[in-house]
Amino acid sequence: MISVQEAQTIILNLVDSLRETENLELDALTGRILAKSITSSLDFPYWNNSAMDGYGVRFEDVNQGNTDQPITLKIVDEVPAGVQPKISLKSGETCRIFTGAVLPDGVDTIIIQENVQRQKDKIVVSQSPKYCGEFVRKKGDFYRSGDTLLSLGTKINEPEIAILATAQCFPVTVYRRPRVAILSTGNELITPTEKLQPGQIIDSNQYALKSFILKNGGIPISLGIVGDDRDLIKKKIIEGINNADFVLSTGGVSVGDYDYVDKILAELGGKIKINSVAIKPGKPLTVAKFDNGCVYFGLPGNPVSALVCCWRFVKLALDKLSGIEGDHKPKLITAKSDHDLSSGGQRETYVWGQLKLVDGEHIFTLAKGHQNSANLINLGLANGLSILPVGVTKVKQGEKIQVLAL
Ligand code: AMP
Ligand code: MG
Repeated sequence: MISVQEAQTIILNLVDSLRETENLELDALTGRILAKSITSSLDFPYWNNSAMDGYGVRFEDVNQGNTDQPITLKIVDEVPAGVQPKISLKSGETCRIFTGAVLPDGVDTIIIQENVQRQKDKIVVSQSPKYCGEFVRKKGDFYRSGDTLLSLGTKINEPEIAILATAQCFPVTVYRRPRVAILSTGNELITPTEKLQPGQIIDSNQYALKSFILKNGGIPISLGIVGDDRDLIKKKIIEGINNADFVLSTGGVSVGDYDYVDKILAELGGKIKINSVAIKPGKPLTVAKFDNGCVYFGLPGNPVSALVCCWRFVKLALDKLSGIEGDHKPKLITAKSDHDLSSGGQRETYVWGQLKLVDGEHIFTLAKGHQNSANLINLGLANGLSILPVGVTKVKQGEKIQVLAL
């Protein structure tokens, strides 16, 4: 049995980032990973423009204004957003201007409309602006043409799509999505639409894993259910290895008489890198690498064990495969446990529950009911796995723990 940390290192070393890319338009980019960094040929803002609704002035005209000596300026134009102003402001003049409108020549400062008295075609300024350039967004102030806006390996979500749109950078080169085959093994398994007969179990793993892959940007390839038949499992595993970057199977990796997966992987020439990890739940995790680059994750069959292995290990591997930049380490949050927690102390133990932010402090609340790897139901609504390291058998209520945020 190897430690969780060793397993993580081995798994990450097995995975290379994808090389194949595709070019996509803005509408198709959500969740995709940039395969090239993005620089723009535009300045941001594109033009000097007003940050507020108000009046454009020359700072030198108004910087002496106060309630005893108000300054009067003549309104010579009105500048709405979206047009190129034609005037050039002279001393003693002002222009009505609106948020986002381009500054006319001569205007260097905006006075917000709340701070002037309007008198027909004049304004009276009795409070001078704080500085030259107040309420002006200057061309290139945020980013300049040639600056890197987004770097290689960035995941594209709504802010990044907005950046790509505004920088007119499209189509966008992204990595192709990883293909992940999913196989459920076990004589007892039926699909959710079949009528449950005595002794049977509904294959929930297929759906949980598919959802996990979709959420993490992959393309799930469903290989369905296969009974504990060595030849049939072998056929399905070959199909997975030939068609996917990763294969995730559940079941058949324990030490039972019908647990064939490890033997088949070896027969097919897979190099078995891991066959047992000191983690609870999830100990019988098997990981193998094939010559074509495919990485095989033989996950335990118990639904919670399978998901814990996905969250703790497969997620990091999938992020690296997808081309996401970073250290590919799990995101851990320090939280206060509001229950006593316990563990056998032999394996790194993951217990599930709710992570909440209360008055600036993270609190972990253990899920009610059995913490049992077959108890899928109380895993619902869990958004954190609290970790009891090897050697720690008790965490008292109120003590700090590390939580893997889901
Ligand atoms: P195994 O790892 O094959 O020994 O399975 C361990 C436990 O997980 C057994 O109780 C199985 O019935 C259950 N199990 C295996 N595969 C699945 C699955 N796809 N969906 C739900 N439960 C499963
Ligand atoms: Mg089984």
